[in-house]
Amino acid sequence: VATPLDLRIDGARLWDSLTRLAEIGATGDGGCERLALTDLDDAAHGLVAGWLADLGCRVRRDRVGNLFAERVGRHPARGYVLVGSHLDTQPKGGRFDGAYGVLAALEIVRTLKDAGIETDAAVTVVSWTNEEGARFPQPLTGSGVFTGAVPLDDARAQPAVDGPRFGDELDRLGIDPTADGPPPGAVEAYFETHIEQGPQLESTGNVIGVVRGGQGIRALRVVLEGAEAHAGTTPMDRRRDAALAAARVVEAAHAVALRTAGALVTVGQLSIEPGSRAVIPGRATLVVDMRHPDRATLDAVEEAIRAAVAKVGADAGVRATAERFLDVKPVRFDRACNDAVSEAARRLGYPSMELVSGAGHDAMNLARIAPTALVFIPCQDGVSHTPAEYASPQHAEAGCNVLLHAVLATAGVASR
Ligand SMILES: [Zn+2]
Repeated sequence: VATPLDLRIDGARLWDSLTRLAEIGATGDGGCERLALTDLDDAAHGLVAGWLADLGCRVRRDRVGNLFAERVGRHPARGYVLVGSHLDTQPKGGRFDGAYGVLAALEIVRTLKDAGIETDAAVTVVSWTNEEGARFPQPLTGSGVFTGAVPLDDARAQPAVDGPRFGDELDRLGIDPTADGPPPGAVEAYFETHIEQGPQLESTGNVIGVVRGGQGIRALRVVLEGAEAHAGTTPMDRRRDAALAAARVVEAAHAVALRTAGALVTVGQLSIEPGSRAVIPGRATLVVDMRHPDRATLDAVEEAIRAAVAKVGADAGVRATAERFLDVKPVRFDRACNDAVSEAARRLGYPSMELVSGAGHDAMNLARIAPTALVFIPCQDGVSHTPAEYASPQHAEAGCNVLLHAVLATAGVASR
């Protein structure tokens, strides 16, 4: 009989599950498109829920669609170790972002069951709803509601880019609006594994990234209201052109980032109305994404961009407003959980390094209520959120083995 220390996950089985899940929403070019709370997203949750139910787990979805599957532990007085990620994707996204973390958690439960190993604390697999914030504007919605960072009413009120509200889609999919998941207060620890989505592990030859923390992320929605007018009859000095103001805001926001060490500022969404060649745009809406590991610096960046928006508005004769709709605070992950990850990597012989996450992850919400660790594996060329996203079977297996042993060390293994 193998001892828990000798235990290894089945890399081929993990890869097979990744391949089968990727058929749901396959884009035909190696990618996946499963936007949150669509039929495809729901089908993916159904497939994974079935696999987890087959293992004897108690499977349920809470009121915002988070999927939980509990494998009971030996000691009812203990809480549970939560492991997972998300199944939704970006439009024309990849096969690994999110899905890998959920299926690694599934593979851990399969491995424990095959080996007949009971843990002291329960081990619970989770898939969080709308991690991506692609179809609905609030990323990390499911983990945000679970941890109390996002009010339920705010979550339900989010409009989808294709029309319906988040709450309407939950209702349409038959998700019980009163259903509870497991109690957030009983989470003993949260572990998530994810592809890095950047080039650091690959370029340094490391296999495991122990994530020290995540940078803060904020977003402003800037609305610029000028005046629509005829492109052929309105003299240049009499225009209140919202597109011109938008261009100046983009330029000014970049300038703020360039003079602030470590700051990253992006305008990734911009629309002008009415959108006709012959009409001076009367309205522009843009979203400014701001990131920095330090909260005070992020405050300064936001303030400078708000000031720039006001100045642009005044100069261009355009009414300018800026509203913050996203605020993910910088976090540091738990030292003991990170040590469990580093120790597992060392024992298994995988080279590892510490790094900071540039992307937002559900682990950043969980870190506010429970000891949390986030584990990265390399992704080819650092490319993610596109069909070209790729992680090798060997690396997927390595990350899952590390996660298995970190979970075992935290949940406790029954001595026989
Ligand atoms: Zn992700």
